[in-house]
Amino acid sequence: MSPRRIAPEGVTGIVDRARATLFGVAVGDALGATTEFMTPAGIRDRYGVLREIVGGGWLKLSPGQVTDDTEMTLCVARGIVCSRRWDPGPIADRFAHWLSGNPADVGATCRRGIEEYIEKGRIEAPPDEKGAGNGAAMRVAPVALYTLGDEGLLSRLAVEQARITHNHPLSDAACETVGTMIQRGLLGAPPRDLMAAEEELVARHPEFRSEGYDGNSSAYVVDTLRTVFDALFSTDTFEECVVKTVNRGGDADTTGSIAGAIAGARYGVASIPQRWLQALAPDLREELSALAEELVRKSPLFAGSSPR
Ligand SMILES: [Mg+2]
Repeated sequence: MSPRRIAPEGVTGIVDRARATLFGVAVGDALGATTEFMTPAGIRDRYGVLREIVGGGWLKLSPGQVTDDTEMTLCVARGIVCSRRWDPGPIADRFAHWLSGNPADVGATCRRGIEEYIEKGRIEAPPDEKGAGNGAAMRVAPVALYTLGDEGLLSRLAVEQARITHNHPLSDAACETVGTMIQRGLLGAPPRDLMAAEEELVARHPEFRSEGYDGNSSAYVVDTLRTVFDALFSTDTFEECVVKTVNRGGDADTTGSIAGAIAGARYGVASIPQRWLQALAPDLREELSALAEELVRKSPLFAGSSPR
């Protein structure tokens, strides 16, 4: 099969939206960390509508500081770009190194999975009835960039990266769907194609349907994705999507970072408020930008062949 050709302006647009995807993870995390574990009423009393990156929150962050959502996403991205072929090992190694630094926030399922990797070298967590948290879906964005152009490959690798810590059908399905929405956004697909990804998920797991959303924004991956879908499909800018998401409170840094990733892919860098980008540490911004470009340039769409 001959490599697909992409017009130069197409390349520029895809790289831009790939950068916006990883920037979206970080700004959604930094904004949402302020309202994590709060109720919508508590957020209203304190902030009106939170739309500025001000830090604080239960972790007492400085403005622009990010948490595990961004840090684990960085581990996935760095682990992929350092390898010649797809290999979850370097990703797990980076998770292990990250955990050894005693991060301020780490989910229980992530911690257990990483500790098992450190102790037993187990790269795939065993099936776990309680493993339907959002900790794998929150870090899937780099896999979507790396597998751009091949949704089948995306599904396989999204699940492999997830299983390092989470082994549950709802987590697996959520990772595939978040990755698919990111990829369709990167390719400039219309909103109905992103909505179709929700429909494909709902056909397999009806509990994810966002119609009739109840406002529950917990770390249960079904609640998390319903929160994201509700905001994504009821707004038409990056800022409104992420603001709506994090003002639900609950697991707001993670809902914010997943919403930011998908909205970034859909709307591009220019749509992200400058004041949010400026709030991030410059070296973080530079690394996210470089990783995003490197990941999509390794993808089947750009390389013209499967990465493995
Ligand atoms: Mg977090």
